[in-house]
Amino acid sequence: MEKASRAEGLRFLVVEDQGFQRWAVEQMLRGMGAGEVYTAADGKEALDIVRRDKAIDIIVTDLNMPGMDGIEFIRHVGQSATHASFLLVSGQDPSLIASVGAMTEAYGARLVDTIHKPLTAQKLGAALERYRNPEVTPDAAPPAYTVAEIEAAVRKGEIEPWFQPKISLATQEVVGAEALARWRHPLHGVVRPASFVGTLEGEGSIEQLTLTMLAQSGHACRTWREAGFRAKVSVNISLTSLVDVMLADRMEQIVKGTGVEAADVILEITETAAASHLGRVLENLTRLRMKGFGLSIDDFGTGYASMQQLSRIPFTELKVDQSFVRGAGAGGSSRAVLESSLEIARKLRIDAVAEGVETEEQLELLRKLGCPLVQGNHFMEPLAGDEFLARLKRRPAARASQA
Ligand code: C2E
Ligand code: MG
Ligand code: MG
Repeated sequence: MEKASRAEGLRFLVVEDQGFQRWAVEQMLRGMGAGEVYTAADGKEALDIVRRDKAIDIIVTDLNMPGMDGIEFIRHVGQSATHASFLLVSGQDPSLIASVGAMTEAYGARLVDTIHKPLTAQKLGAALERYRNPEVTPDAAPPAYTVAEIEAAVRKGEIEPWFQPKISLATQEVVGAEALARWRHPLHGVVRPASFVGTLEGEGSIEQLTLTMLAQSGHACRTWREAGFRAKVSVNISLTSLVDVMLADRMEQIVKGTGVEAADVILEITETAAASHLGRVLENLTRLRMKGFGLSIDDFGTGYASMQQLSRIPFTELKVDQSFVRGAGAGGSSRAVLESSLEIARKLRIDAVAEGVETEEQLELLRKLGCPLVQGNHFMEPLAGDEFLARLKRRPAARASQA
């Protein structure tokens, strides 16, 4: 009964050139309680329906169709006034379906799911479940707070680092931990960086957050030392804060003030946009490196001109973006990016970290590819300072990793 109601009250359009499949999907949707099910045999016919009924909720569409294919159809819908979401169904290669999915979102349309044919009632049910309860992914979180609210939170000390370990595959030791900003909001609970970092960056006001994260992370690293762990601490630095040429000295002072050395701290840098003051950014990075800080290139493979950055900046570490770790199991282009990134790190003699490791299969593949360092929820999700240290102490390998 629960299953039968998943489509209840929703209006659907099914676009599929094969008559039997079109009929089968229509029956499944009606069986699940759909409010309305339109059907169309190609993109052109479907577009006419979309223009007539602007209240369609979900368009279930095939990609290969004679005449106007699914790709062109999605573009037209994206440019029209409808709010419909897409459910892509295709027998094509999963990596191709995924890229059509990315295109759909780039056109501003919501993508519920991409389904590899054959479409079964079970797959359809799961996709509708996702439509009803969309996961709040960190990237999709809206910038819900104003700069003034966020700055006040920084001043009041409501934003603090949580830590996620970086583990050596050879020794199982925790060699470091990444500090990830968490806002303990008095009303909204724990708020993740997607809701405030971008807003601060956009207004050029990220500096206070950077400095408070650095200070708190330095302190945490010191407590690990005192408990006998040699782990370094990694702090995320926005490229925009690196425009201030005084930054390197201030960062050094802050770190020294916490009782650890610059060499205990790794700065993770993501290039999210072409750097506007490249000279100053390079000056800061070079100086930070000279002072002993480690420099890590974050989300490698997704940023701007990553290769060029690698040759210009004295990086000590490369973090392969989690999207490639996630996609590598299926082979294809993600696997190629993952392998080449590890190869580049080896050739440059810098550390490589695979981010976002979630499963034993991913770990197995990374071992096979000789990835030295891993990080991800498979080992430990990010945890608040005290809890992190308590978990470090409880780890089976903890004794071996103690200094
Ligand atoms: P990042 O530096 O690439 O950090 C990794 C993100 O992946 C974190 O998200 C982490 O919680 C998440 N993650 C770790 N393991 C897994 C896993 O197994 N599966 C999945 N799905 N996710 C995993 P988070 O904490 O939401 O941070 C997002 C981004 O915000 C960070 O990406 C970083 O670029 C930025 N950020 C975080 N803290 C700060 C900060 O203090 N300052 C600045 N400027 N940026 C920050
Ligand atoms: Mg990072
Ligand atoms: Mg990253």
